[in-house]
Amino acid sequence: MNDEIIEELAGRVQQARRMVIFTGAGVSTDSGIPDFRSPGGFWTKHKPIEYREFLSSPETRKEAWTRFFAIHDTITKAVPGETHRAIARLAERGNVARVITQNIDGLHQRAGVPHDQVIEIHGNGSLARCLSCGARHEIAEVREAMMETGEPPACGTCGGIVKSATISFGQAMPEQEMADSRAATLDADLFFAVGSSLQVFPAAGFPVTASHNHTPLVIINREPTGLDGLAQLVIHADAGPVLGAVVAKLAN
Ligand code: NAD
Repeated sequence: MNDEIIEELAGRVQQARRMVIFTGAGVSTDSGIPDFRSPGGFWTKHKPIEYREFLSSPETRKEAWTRFFAIHDTITKAVPGETHRAIARLAERGNVARVITQNIDGLHQRAGVPHDQVIEIHGNGSLARCLSCGARHEIAEVREAMMETGEPPACGTCGGIVKSATISFGQAMPEQEMADSRAATLDADLFFAVGSSLQVFPAAGFPVTASHNHTPLVIINREPTGLDGLAQLVIHADAGPVLGAVVAKLAN
């Protein structure tokens, strides 16, 4: 990677006081979790099951849970990669207000970003919840119950539908996380979008908001995104080596 670009990135990070780092599936591909659209990704094999379809029939819920167990196995085995580690080092500097992630894998936190600094706008794949009463359910218990009965799980407390605590297409976004992300974005003085195709809305609305708010937007992604035209700096490269080099430059 061109040293001038790393120098520029490091300079911007150094000057920032309230930086926001927005991440997508591309920050976790190094960890063996396929992204959404690249070949071989979970979702290139199956059309995603939309929220209303999940609600519509026990058969669809069974299919959704079977797919989710495979994703959960992959996530559980994964360890933070170079990009997660670099973002955690940046967060240690004290000028990263929030890491807003679309990922459900919890790897930013496992790399060392404090939990209260991470906003998971698409939920968390390590647990499930009842859609009626909100009761927490463990994935292992859901899996065991489904293996025993062959049926998708119902809540032991209220009989409601149990779903992984992740946001499906067509499902309402979590209000608090959206409000916190919006506040952090409006307050940011530097906004990095890393490893995201920036095609999934409303999440991708945050870099748009940053840009409209005249906050410098930096996009680091392996391939072009639909929002490249809004950014002050666009880097088409693997995020790990780029952010790793920025961290190394800042340490010197
Ligand atoms: P996406 O697949 O649409 O985009 C990922 C982008 O990252 C792609 O453009 C790809 O070229 C790029 N990329 C892949 N590896 C990279 C690397 N090492 N360095 C730099 N860029 C890299 O993913 P998205 O924008 O996050 O949207 C997909 C949705 O699916 C998200 O909302 C997310 O909730 C969900 N998802 C989550 C996970 C996870 O938790 N790890 C994985 C897949 C999908």
